[in-house]
Amino acid sequence: MTTGLNDTIVCKFGGSSVADADQIVKVRDIVAADERRRHIVVSAPGRRHAHEEKVTDHLLNIATHGAHFAERRPPIAVEDSTKAVNTRFGEILVGLDLPSEPMLQELDRDLATDLEGAARVAFLASRGEHYSARIVAAFLTASEMPASARLPEDFGLLVDGPMLQARVHPDTSERIAALDVTDELAVIPGYYGVQEDGTVAVFSRGGSDLTGGEVAAAVNAGSYENWTDVSGVFEADPRVLPEARAIPRLTFKEIRLLASKGFNVFHFDAMVNCRRRGVPIHIRNTNDPEAAGTRILNERVPEEGVVGIARLDDVGYIYLEKDDLSMEVGFTASLLRIFQDFGINTHHYPTDRDDIAVLVDQTDLKGSINDLRRAIDETLQPDAMEVVYNLSILTPVGLGLKHNSSPVADALQSLSERNIALEMFHQSPSQLCFHLGVSGAAADVAYRALYEALIGGD
Ligand code: ASP
Repeated sequence: MTTGLNDTIVCKFGGSSVADADQIVKVRDIVAADERRRHIVVSAPGRRHAHEEKVTDHLLNIATHGAHFAERRPPIAVEDSTKAVNTRFGEILVGLDLPSEPMLQELDRDLATDLEGAARVAFLASRGEHYSARIVAAFLTASEMPASARLPEDFGLLVDGPMLQARVHPDTSERIAALDVTDELAVIPGYYGVQEDGTVAVFSRGGSDLTGGEVAAAVNAGSYENWTDVSGVFEADPRVLPEARAIPRLTFKEIRLLASKGFNVFHFDAMVNCRRRGVPIHIRNTNDPEAAGTRILNERVPEEGVVGIARLDDVGYIYLEKDDLSMEVGFTASLLRIFQDFGINTHHYPTDRDDIAVLVDQTDLKGSINDLRRAIDETLQPDAMEVVYNLSILTPVGLGLKHNSSPVADALQSLSERNIALEMFHQSPSQLCFHLGVSGAAADVAYRALYEALIGGD
């Protein structure tokens, strides 16, 4: 699968890696450390600390005339967002010893755009990445690493589909491949492209990963480095289990299974092309470039049963009982249809002869549970219905689980030793993971028990 790849490395730096001048100095040092790094994709400046908003969010606030932060307490006024964006870029330029006036004037003009509707939102949202790329290119050049910002509006990173959920157009790949990086490094802003008529459109949030993935696939890169502020994908949530380590190697399939249940590392769409072309993704930490990070590959030889355990909290469980429901053709379809009509995504639906349960994010039930119950009663006439809240689903994942029942046995034993009741058990059809439902109150203890039984200490 990896035939045809060359030795270039495409690096994507996330919002925290370009959040201020000091971070951008780290970016420069990382790029300088390996001459195979010729394509650099950047996000907009992210948060420098927990109490700050990302530049993209301020831009969305400006674009929506304050609606974006209207729910926030206290709300942030449009003028304050404008000031925050200006100040942030101003500080970065000054901190990097770059001339600030010309770029800030241009930024001012962009922020005052008279575009309206989705075109306005997309254009303004894209400005974070746009200026970030121009600043990084200018700084690399000033550091005697000639670079130029290669802007989607100039080389035609073509997209189609909805303006705020754009999709990459198939012709884009050729255009990216044609960018000449022999004399100058190419710094490409992530997150946006242009439609055929030149109008800017953005991907969904976190979409700079996607640009990076497109670039990596287009140039047949030997590696797509995704630089963030964590040292890879962890075996378990380190906020709950501080001893959890970064997983050295994962397959695309494994990361999908981990990410589908709360592991929030990477924009999924970004993987599609890399997976197809066999470009490995390497998740690394800008603040700790020596750390090994996590490599995501098409294949690996599993040496262990379980590589990571994902956890999803605040799950609601809707349980129905009706004699012989499994014999009623279309019962499950009608039930799921009701959830669909309410716009509620269903995670699991374990079923048996006389009963079925549907597991959902309980926040999705807010405000609609009574209507939902009524609709289920009227359409399916169950004998009983019960709604249970605050479950947590713990999901051990690993290629080594296939045809191997020991980890399942170990997991159940570890819960039983701690008297933790099992509210749900479900093996994935892929056999690469299984899901254990426990009450939210027992989730921390159960999570640790599973970690110790399946991963830790070896
Ligand atoms: N800046 C955009 C966002 O905050 C895209 C990205 O950072 O990937 O969603």
